[in-house]
Amino acid sequence: MSLLASDPTMRSIRRRLRAVLNGRVITPGNAGYDQARTVFYGMFDRRPAVIVRPTDPSDVSQVVSLARETGLELAVRSGGHSLAGHSTTDGGIVLDLTDMNALEIDPEQRTAWAETGLTAGAYTTAAGAYGLATGFGDTGSVGIGGLTLGGGIGYLVRKYGLTIDSLLAAELVTADGQLLHVDDQSHPELFWAIRGGGGNFGVVTRFQFRLHELRQFVGGLLVQPATPAVIAAFVAEAQAAPEELSTIANVMPAPPLPFVPAEHRGRLVIMATLAYAGAVEDGQRAVAPFRALATPIADLVRPIPYPGIYPPEQEGFHPTAVSRTMFVDAVDRAATEAIVEHLQASTASLSVAQLRVLGGAMARVPAEATAFAHRASRLMVNVSAVYHRPEEAQVHQAWVDRLAAALRDGEDRAYVNFLGEEGQARIREAYPGPTWERLAAIKARYDPTNLFHLNQNIPPTKGVTSAARSRR
Ligand SMILES: Cc1cc2nc3c(=O)[nH]c(=O)nc-3n(C[C@H](O)[C@H](O)[C@H](O)COP(=O)(O)OP(=O)(O)OC[C@H]3O[C@@H](n4cnc5c(N)ncnc54)[C@H](O)[C@@H]3O)c2cc1C
Repeated sequence: MSLLASDPTMRSIRRRLRAVLNGRVITPGNAGYDQARTVFYGMFDRRPAVIVRPTDPSDVSQVVSLARETGLELAVRSGGHSLAGHSTTDGGIVLDLTDMNALEIDPEQRTAWAETGLTAGAYTTAAGAYGLATGFGDTGSVGIGGLTLGGGIGYLVRKYGLTIDSLLAAELVTADGQLLHVDDQSHPELFWAIRGGGGNFGVVTRFQFRLHELRQFVGGLLVQPATPAVIAAFVAEAQAAPEELSTIANVMPAPPLPFVPAEHRGRLVIMATLAYAGAVEDGQRAVAPFRALATPIADLVRPIPYPGIYPPEQEGFHPTAVSRTMFVDAVDRAATEAIVEHLQASTASLSVAQLRVLGGAMARVPAEATAFAHRASRLMVNVSAVYHRPEEAQVHQAWVDRLAAALRDGEDRAYVNFLGEEGQARIREAYPGPTWERLAAIKARYDPTNLFHLNQNIPPTKGVTSAARSRR
């Protein structure tokens, strides 16, 4: 199908959308088109034929049906942070959920119904007003849509598990345009699949989450010089810490931020966020061993309201980057030496090795209970390089691959939400054997034509496994 703005078929599709939808329809030539087509990562500069901003599930259903009937490629967007550019398309339809951002909090029941246009930051701020929280990731502008569907690993992971471990139910529009309520009782297979299986199964319009009481919290940035010994000691402390404490440690050259003294800028540091979900006194005790690892260059760890963990973000920041994600069980001395050596040799504008110690509540959920199977992994490592000139991408990708190879320990395991465009073998690393087969069978049932393919795709398989069949 020709997709030019002036194409008569496209014109009639847009007319149809404008006639049936309550939400906005933005097309090339409309004021705001360029802003509406922009996603977080700068390398995905794509031009959709139409961007739809639904306001309700019936709009979502109309758009899904139209994509199915016309064969136009459908990109689903919540917060637009896909590392693979999956929430935009050249010449297709972007279903951008931004305007569906209602949040209903029930403080008595400690539950919330959240539409998927919400960001982690907006949800957290609203829930924080009640002293309640659901754990998302490390960045406030990330959408709850993509993050939750892939699992969700953040500041409360050791205390309350993955984001999906607080997911009670969801409403989603499947490929046939139907709105389904899914939970443990209703479409349990689909509910299993959307807890880790990404956007493969439908468009989620809203999630119901469990909220946790979080009236006291200690958190913030701790910046210390990075040597192999300090990095290894940091990891050991994070593993020994009470599970109220989750940490995200970025080993990187110190950025020119106001709180980093000039003499340290550009030198390798551990820029870590410490997050203690519990009583202030206990939190101060839990962070003390980290403060003692090396004289802090900056210490912003203090009692704060939990939403303060998401500071304001730079407007218009659209980095170009390459990265590699992996789960490992140990970061030993050789690994910390490799991290330091590689970071020192990097020619990227910014290079980072991010270490997240896992365990706690995340690890207590059985691997087969959700589509996120890597429960037992002890750490997640993400290596990334930000660069400016497109022709440099290959050099930095090679650097990322070399460091990732040096850190590899045993079987390759990936976190689906941090995968870029890396091919099916890498997607399978997110979904080990039985998980992949079960997901593919559920996909065959709910999306047999692979309408939802702009994602870390699980193609439908015709042969439904007997295990999946008996669970229906
Ligand atoms: C700066 C940054 C920080 C991050 N930090 C973390 C972190 O700490 N922890 C973590 O777990 N992840 C983190 N991530 C990864 C993040 O979870 C994924 O990129 C996620 O896909 C982003 O969700 P989104 O809604 O913003 O993205 P989008 O680009 O809008 O969506 C990504 C994909 O998710 C699917 N999708 C989104 N919404 C829906 C929906 N409503 N229904 C069906 N499918 C949908 C679609 O397939 C879509 O292509 C981070 C990413 C970035 C860029």
